[in-house]
Amino acid sequence: MTFRAGGIGVLAVAAWLLPYGLGGYAIHVVNIALIYALLAMGMGLAMGISGQINLAQVAFFGVGAYTLAILTTGYGHGFWTAAALALLATLVTGLFVGIPALRMQSHYLGIVTLGLALGFINWITNASVTGGADGISGIPLPSLPGVDLSSEYLYYYLELTVCAVGLGFGLFVVRTSLGRRLRAMRDDSLAAGAMGAEIPLLRMTAFLLASLYGGLAGVLYAGLIRYVAPETFSIGNMFLLLAMVIIGGRRSLVGCVVGAVGLTLIREWLSDFSTYAQLGYGVVVVLMVVFAPTGLAGIPSRVREFTRRRRRGDAEDRARLRPFRPYDVVKAPDDGHGPLLDIRSVTQDFRGLRALDEVSLTVRPGEIRGIVGPNGSGKTTLFNVISGFYRATSGQVRFGGRATTTARPYTLSLLGMARTFQNLRLFGRLTVRENILVALDRTRTHSLWQYAVWQPGVVRRERSLRREAQELLERFGLADFAEAAPGSLPYGIQRRIEIARAMASRPRLLLLDEPAAGLNGEEVQELARIVRSIRDGGTTVVLIEHNMGLVMSLCERVTVLSGGVVIAEGTPAEVVAAPEVIEAYLGDAAPADVPRPEPAPPAPQPAPPAGAPTPKETTR
Ligand code: ADP
Ligand code: MG
Repeated sequence: MTFRAGGIGVLAVAAWLLPYGLGGYAIHVVNIALIYALLAMGMGLAMGISGQINLAQVAFFGVGAYTLAILTTGYGHGFWTAAALALLATLVTGLFVGIPALRMQSHYLGIVTLGLALGFINWITNASVTGGADGISGIPLPSLPGVDLSSEYLYYYLELTVCAVGLGFGLFVVRTSLGRRLRAMRDDSLAAGAMGAEIPLLRMTAFLLASLYGGLAGVLYAGLIRYVAPETFSIGNMFLLLAMVIIGGRRSLVGCVVGAVGLTLIREWLSDFSTYAQLGYGVVVVLMVVFAPTGLAGIPSRVREFTRRRRRGDAEDRARLRPFRPYDVVKAPDDGHGPLLDIRSVTQDFRGLRALDEVSLTVRPGEIRGIVGPNGSGKTTLFNVISGFYRATSGQVRFGGRATTTARPYTLSLLGMARTFQNLRLFGRLTVRENILVALDRTRTHSLWQYAVWQPGVVRRERSLRREAQELLERFGLADFAEAAPGSLPYGIQRRIEIARAMASRPRLLLLDEPAAGLNGEEVQELARIVRSIRDGGTTVVLIEHNMGLVMSLCERVTVLSGGVVIAEGTPAEVVAAPEVIEAYLGDAAPADVPRPEPAPPAPQPAPPAGAPTPKETTR
């Protein structure tokens, strides 16, 4: 920590002293580089942090610069008034460009944002208010009392300050509530939604952040050059910016700055060979995408990850998984208010396939309900309908007495529903602790105004969230993995993390989709203990499971689905004896006295008994 603080101190002093060593032209190049650094940070926030492909950054840059130019030269506003209005205009543009992100993702979003940028370039090249191809000259100098900003040396300090504040603010966002949610959305927007993140609002926020940095860059550029023309905001520059972000490392704001400054300097240095230079950037970008997709900034952590994997194996990881510490037992939730979950005649069609057919089901508070059925019988689909991922074709879902048939996943999460996924959906590039923090954080996106006006509020909330996260990690025996990437851990531990993450939102109803799949015998025992304790702690549980032994020992009631239809419901003993169930599992040819179905998946590796020396494994 002190080492890092020292590094920052040295950098700050070097940045402060830099102009003393530079000539007039060199300082100009540095000033341009800082403007690109701001632009690149905005790109990084949208693309690398939030996963929203944004090729309209150059348009945000342009809106900022042109609005300032028009307001100062055409309407006689002072520089700073115009700058504030220009920022506002850019933010509005950011919201507008963000609209397509609500509907589409990945390359489509890339194409649409690029299209919007092209439209903007076309407009500034042809409109009379923007001066057409000639641009707008005569932009006044920004005035600061006692500072002559016509000197590029002094302008450098203005830019440096804005960049430092921009970087500080960006890092603050990335490392706290908002950024964590944005990164969770990037890694898995479905899972983030199920944890209560309001995805549409977050996508807009990502573009808002990108436009904020774009607008700042535009204002600084107009004040520096005091002339704007279309070629600055060209598609060529857009791709140069993209190259900066990819080479520097899109998931790290510092990487974006390094990429921007580095490439600006290299471009200057190669200005006599600009055609070859363009080709060169292209080649470097391709090489980066193939060999170091996380850019220069990502190389250290890739190296660390690599050596870590070689050093430690699964067995060692498993040994560090501590036992689960049970929840305090609470009085059984009041039964007087009817069912917690009430599903009435739900049908779900997928283009000709009826995955659920008039399914009805009620779950009382305090129950552990089992849902079993052969593969493809509609169990996961039922969970997806309950948790708002699918909208039932017909029928009704009520949760906690409310009609929630059409509710979005994040609404249901905020109402107290949590789930896990059959195929694990952890946020892969967040640490285990951050995975938990995303779900713990129950603040609504609209309370993010605090980031703009009252950062101490954010810090205070962050502290209490981290305390709670530590407690939860300890309860689930995961404290030793808090800083690990979930993907680097054995499967059984990842399953445990997913349950801990679901419980972080303190749900009233927990939906578990095949939590025992892939666990060994000992882990299944521990799972049973965990699920029972979760129920005793006041959370109702619905459990999809193939492991009949687990279902028999945990559930009071079991519902059997087959071909999308409920074919039986009752106590475990009742349903395994029902002829319909035996038939569904074994087909018509089954004799009447077959033993109970037990299609448990094979356990991947037996675990050593607790306390026994673990065999040394060097590879995974
Ligand atoms: P289970 O979880 O019981 O194994 P699922 O609910 O996953 O079964 O699937 C039930 C049926 O619905 C399967 O035939 C599956 O192919 C189909 N299905 C599930 N989700 C979709 C989807 N999004 N689009 C089309 N078909 C789907
Ligand atoms: Mg399933």
